[in-house]
Amino acid sequence: MLKVENLKVHYPIRGGFFNTIKDHVYAVDGVDIEIESGKTYGLIGESGSGKTTVGKVVLGLEKATDGQIIYKEEDVTEKAARKKLKYNRDVQMIFQDAMSSLNPKKRIIDIIAEPISNFENLSEEDTKKRVLELLNIVGMGEEAMYKYPFEFSGGQRQRIGIARAVVTRPDFILCDEPTSALDASTQAQVINLLKDLQEKFSLTYLFISHNLGVVEYIADRIAVMYRGNLVELGTTAQIMKNPQHVYTKRLLSSMPIIDP
Ligand code: ADP
Ligand code: MG
Repeated sequence: MLKVENLKVHYPIRGGFFNTIKDHVYAVDGVDIEIESGKTYGLIGESGSGKTTVGKVVLGLEKATDGQIIYKEEDVTEKAARKKLKYNRDVQMIFQDAMSSLNPKKRIIDIIAEPISNFENLSEEDTKKRVLELLNIVGMGEEAMYKYPFEFSGGQRQRIGIARAVVTRPDFILCDEPTSALDASTQAQVINLLKDLQEKFSLTYLFISHNLGVVEYIADRIAVMYRGNLVELGTTAQIMKNPQHVYTKRLLSSMPIIDP
């Protein structure tokens, strides 16, 4: 469904009197990813390894220095191609911090309905129906519709963010640390919700996290990122049971042990 080919993102470091380019941050330096339809591809690595930058290029929020993004066999690296293919409707995102990704001045009904108004021409009545249907799917009720984001807990806000992500009936969702701001039991609920939705709507996920325990639970394959490069790729079982790269071994050994 999605291919990232030899992706490079180099950020210039400027300085001096003329603000000239002194050097570059090699945030992503030659990454290849191949995600099969209906599967979850886990991308792990410590903070600063370049995971979010990969995600931003996939979403079109950041420009690639080099390389291609191929979606359903079409090159979507350039903005014009993404527009033509309704890519921005097909590909949605869920972020770590639902508080800052939900507009604090809007009611939940308007937050979830906003992507609909961008892509479809639904009547007010039908919009309301769709929003309610989605709230129910993510385990919330009608009373949530007329409240504001601050009136909810972190876990509930993430559910609202998830409802907003699936409202346009996308095929592909990028999840960037979607549970990292939540406590352990809420994390598990949100992960289970993501798994249920994947089945219900045949979604494909690119799931970014620094938390191997979470990725192990949801991903089919895991790629390990280290300083802008992928250092290891395998099925979840391979990576968890028989890691090859020294950095993957280190990530595994630093995993908190849940069972006391
Ligand atoms: P991760 O998501 O794995 O924590 P990021 O993709 O956010 O990592 O960052 C990778 C590297 O790129 C880091 O060194 C970060 O400081 C740098 N970086 C990210 N965004 C920018 C930017 N807009 N300008 C310059 N450097 C950036
Ligand atoms: Mg990140």
